[in-house]
Amino acid sequence: FTPGIEPQATWCPGCGDFGVLKALKQAMPEVGRTPDETLLVTGIGCSGKLSSYFESYGFHSIHGRSLPVARAAKLANPGLEVIAAGGDGDGYGIGGNHFMHTARENHDMTYIVFNNEIFGLTKGQTSPTSPKGHKSKTQPHGSAKDPVRPMSLSLASGSSYIARTAAVNPNQAKDILIEAIEHDGFAHVDFLTQCPTWNKDAKQYVPYTDVQDSDDFDFDVTDRREAADAMYEAESRLYEGEVLTGRFYVDSERPSYGAEKRATEEMPEEPLAERYLSDDSEWERSADLLHHHR
Ligand code: SF4
Repeated sequence: FTPGIEPQATWCPGCGDFGVLKALKQAMPEVGRTPDETLLVTGIGCSGKLSSYFESYGFHSIHGRSLPVARAAKLANPGLEVIAAGGDGDGYGIGGNHFMHTARENHDMTYIVFNNEIFGLTKGQTSPTSPKGHKSKTQPHGSAKDPVRPMSLSLASGSSYIARTAAVNPNQAKDILIEAIEHDGFAHVDFLTQCPTWNKDAKQYVPYTDVQDSDDFDFDVTDRREAADAMYEAESRLYEGEVLTGRFYVDSERPSYGAEKRATEEMPEEPLAERYLSDDSEWERSADLLHHHR
């Protein structure tokens, strides 16, 4: 991966999305993965452009559907490093169902959610993480809804790695992405990304505190109950103006979905993708079948 930001990137000046790209580009060499070993799948939104600016294989999927595409790719080709990405509207709203079940099944991948508390690409509408009372074109008198708690939802659903970081905090972001990518199982990173164009009020600009360094937090990231309390507290304080980032939950014991399927021999050890493409495969490519039937 070449360092630096893709010069053709069309994100607005000062957008937090640049921070995600930068952190990811810095993380990949440290995990020892090359572009041809990596797949980045995105949904729709400003965040969706990430797969165009990253040098790996990319798949810009449809709204809220990055996770099912990523799951299929990982199951067919477990050797690929699979990263899925999307925004808070894409991931916690439109794709909320996929988020819940991909976490539950513990698919081995990293899921980065660009959380800027609004829909950016479509000009600032209220999103699932917009604070209660937030005014926008879709909620001109202020949102009457409580925001989604992404990490609490993630833990309850079954994610085995959960962290929050921020674009204004590039060193921590890089370290967290390295951990998430190296984690075997579903690693969810709620990535706070400022949107200076449509959400100037968001707390994403506020200096952050790392929960691992905070005197207010003393919890064991491997203990589900302690992690649940810590993330609930951090999620509440975000809307009170305090940004708390860091690792919130890590379960290194639970096998991933793919590992379980291979252990029961329901899935072959040999990657399906290689089987399909190998010359001595008993499978026939669909193009060959088409040719035979002509
Ligand atoms: Fe970034 Fe907001 Fe511009 Fe989208 S609209 S590129 S989220 S600053």
